[in-house]
Amino acid sequence: MPLGFSMKEMKDNKRILVLPGDGIGPEVCKEATTILELVNEIHSLNLSFSEALVGGSAYEATGEPLPQDTLKAARESDAILLGAVGGPKWDELDYQYRPERALLGLRSELDLFANFRPAILSKYLTSSSSLKANNVENLDLLIIRELTGGIYFGEPRGRTEGKKEAFNTMIYNQDEIERIGRVAFEAAQKRNKNLCSVDKANVLEVSVLWREVITELSKEYPDVILSHMLVDNAAMQLVREPKQFDVIVTGNLFGDILSDIAAMMTGSIGMLPSASLNSENKGMYEPVHGSAPDIAGKGIANPIAAILSFAMALKYSLNLDKEADNLEKAVQEVLDEGFRTKDILSKGTKEVSTIEMGAAIISKLK
Ligand code: NAD
Repeated sequence: MPLGFSMKEMKDNKRILVLPGDGIGPEVCKEATTILELVNEIHSLNLSFSEALVGGSAYEATGEPLPQDTLKAARESDAILLGAVGGPKWDELDYQYRPERALLGLRSELDLFANFRPAILSKYLTSSSSLKANNVENLDLLIIRELTGGIYFGEPRGRTEGKKEAFNTMIYNQDEIERIGRVAFEAAQKRNKNLCSVDKANVLEVSVLWREVITELSKEYPDVILSHMLVDNAAMQLVREPKQFDVIVTGNLFGDILSDIAAMMTGSIGMLPSASLNSENKGMYEPVHGSAPDIAGKGIANPIAAILSFAMALKYSLNLDKEADNLEKAVQEVLDEGFRTKDILSKGTKEVSTIEMGAAIISKLK
């Protein structure tokens, strides 16, 4: 038996489904998958890998952005690693055939209700941030957004007949708030034990309920310090003093906006991973960026967001915290040595291609 090969790992043959998608998706996925296969080999993790079509490339091959085979494979896997979907070629298609429909389909079919968006800023990239260096240096915050409820899905919704009027419904029930709350408290327990719940309780009844449920739940997590903040203040505080936050938990609409504000603080979209989990910790892991058609096929895409997404898969779906930390450390070391893809290049650093960045990270892991 190889060293470090536990009985648990031997029993659990965890399945990883790779969905490269479109544009730079396959380019960044290739580097991330090579790294995962290496991590699998080095640590004898007994992970198994398969690949399937998604997005525009799936539409070309099958007429569907999310073919049944892909959905079946997704249901049977423990973690899904997605590159990106979409591109101008498919922009004119009917809504149901658009590549982005595949993402919504996967989220709802797998009930991926908890979206994790870390905003981490490497000390070397402070100059790429839109904020002053001292405000963002060593920034490390996590935004947890409820992803399958709230105003984006609430009924009734629509247009009023006979007049120019439209409406949506913001609705959350106790169970929905509790399950995202639990995920957030548990994530805070693994970090600095500070959780800020963001709502609009001065105006919205939904937010009053949200605050009540989260406050009640906090009794089960006495080691986590809970605070509440109104969303308008949270937006201000994020750009004023983002390092005051550890974990933020919020609903679908507010999370959508706040996580993009946080993304801007880190400078490059090519560095940002994300995860969407269900109640069994099954998850879809993907870079925050899209398919970047402007640079697709040029070999210059930054693979770090995809690689760090895969590190999140190790941590959250596969319970391999140590291996995830090693991978994050390898990425940091490569940045320490000045390797940069074009999007994060600065004076005095070395420009590398997508493949060279992957190879540099591999050399650290070995
Ligand atoms: P984008 O994220 O693809 O690109 C925005 C800009 O960032 C571009 O200039 C691009 O070159 C750059 N960029 C993105 N990722 C990069 C990387 N890894 N390395 C270096 N530079 C990178 O956003 P967009 O241009 O608005 O969208 C392009 C397509 O992607 C659209 O079809 C959109 O619908 C789709 N999209 C998909 C997802 C997803 O799959 N989750 C997310 C967002 C957008």
